Amino acid sequence: MSESSTSAAKAQAQAFPDGTTDYTPLRAANKFDPNKVHIADTPMTWSNWYKHVNWLNTTFIIFIPIIGFISAYWVPLHLYTAIFAVVYYFNTGLGITAGYHRLWSHTSYKATTLLKIYLAACGAGAVEGSIRWWSRGHRAHHRYTDTVKDPYSVRKGLLYSHLGWMVFKQNPKRAGRTDITDLNEDPVVVWQHRNYLKTVISMALIFPTIVCGLGWGDWVGGFVYAGILRICFVQQATFCVNSLAHWLGDQPFDDRNSPRDHVITALVTLGEGYHNFHHEFPSDYRNAIEWYQYDPTKWSICLWKWLGLAYDLKQFRSNEIEKGRVQQMQKKLDQKRSTLDWGIPLEQLPVISWDDFVDDSKNGKALVAVAGVIHDVTDFIKDHPGGKALISSAIGKDATAIFNGGVYDHSNAAHNLLSTMRVGVLRGGCEVEIWKRAQFENKDVTYMNDSAGQRIVRAGSQVTKMTQAVASADAA
Ligand SMILES: [Zn+2]
Ligand SMILES: [Zn+2]
Repeated sequence: MSESSTSAAKAQAQAFPDGTTDYTPLRAANKFDPNKVHIADTPMTWSNWYKHVNWLNTTFIIFIPIIGFISAYWVPLHLYTAIFAVVYYFNTGLGITAGYHRLWSHTSYKATTLLKIYLAACGAGAVEGSIRWWSRGHRAHHRYTDTVKDPYSVRKGLLYSHLGWMVFKQNPKRAGRTDITDLNEDPVVVWQHRNYLKTVISMALIFPTIVCGLGWGDWVGGFVYAGILRICFVQQATFCVNSLAHWLGDQPFDDRNSPRDHVITALVTLGEGYHNFHHEFPSDYRNAIEWYQYDPTKWSICLWKWLGLAYDLKQFRSNEIEKGRVQQMQKKLDQKRSTLDWGIPLEQLPVISWDDFVDDSKNGKALVAVAGVIHDVTDFIKDHPGGKALISSAIGKDATAIFNGGVYDHSNAAHNLLSTMRVGVLRGGCEVEIWKRAQFENKDVTYMNDSAGQRIVRAGSQVTKMTQAVASADAA
């Protein structure tokens, strides 16, 4: 694309009223001045580093967990508290994966108000920001994956994509624009955003403490294990979607960006580990498409559907999914093909007359013509699996027929190997030309190039391979 057309496209994109906006927090809208230089746009120094740190986030994701780990030393772990902590871990994790992510960020299914309230409450218990803030960032992440506008681009480092983007202040104007009008119209989302701090403290700390306290008298254990430490584990697990899922695993659908599929990430993130699939088919309610892959978030959505709490589950046709998979396999195949020696392309070979071919052969060069192509077999004579005599007898001759069944019907590998020895194309006449023409006319030979521009040579369609033509020549 030329430079002028690129800038024209950019201008067009800017003029296009796509309904997207910069992010403005509902709670502190008056505090944000877009004209002031944001701290994130100034270099970090020894004297201003503390201004770069987002202390609220850092308290939630670093200081409180540290306090939890230290307290755990003195607080014994009650069995019931341990069981409840794990159960609540899964519920708050689902609040993020099934709620914040698949429901609100991607609208991959619809939920009844009851289910929305449950997901909004559990999601708050995971302490990862409000639905509105989280989904906005996630939509920007999908729209601008791996670019400067991706709020947690893995290109800025694994640790940055995991934690750094929250520990340090970000200029809200920097993150890519997205459309969140649907979220602003969702009363559950707006209520949770406006009452975020209250919701978090209730669901993350007070609720688990009360359950363990009233349930079996373990108030302190409930606070430390089902509260603080459970928060830490849920956070670290779900943060892996931004870091590990862009770093570890395979790319079966597209390898132009960083998202990857890996079972370990899936195990850690309640099934969000098939992230290459997810970035290709973001509005599919599934992350794992095979029944045996671990995706408890998908299973939960299915269960809710069965219970009548979820409906309109979105799913891409397997035809679309498989096309992506085949194209990526083709790309890998082309890359592999381009590393192999397929012989000098025919059009780059010099054209040699029959007389020169015969003369050169008499003067010590071991040249053999097969199907109009001249091969230099000098270095190969001693290695010829059929022995020296047979190959030597073909020097200076047209060996098309004897190579293709006259003496021995050479293997596919032999045709491939022969192509690496080719040094010229024979000019004019002889049976070779007739065969060549026959190959073009009868055998429906269409040359295909791979994405690296190399001709694809399929087994049995090497230029030296002459099945039918040789049979008729023998008969004649
Ligand atoms: Zn991602
Ligand atoms: Zn997503």
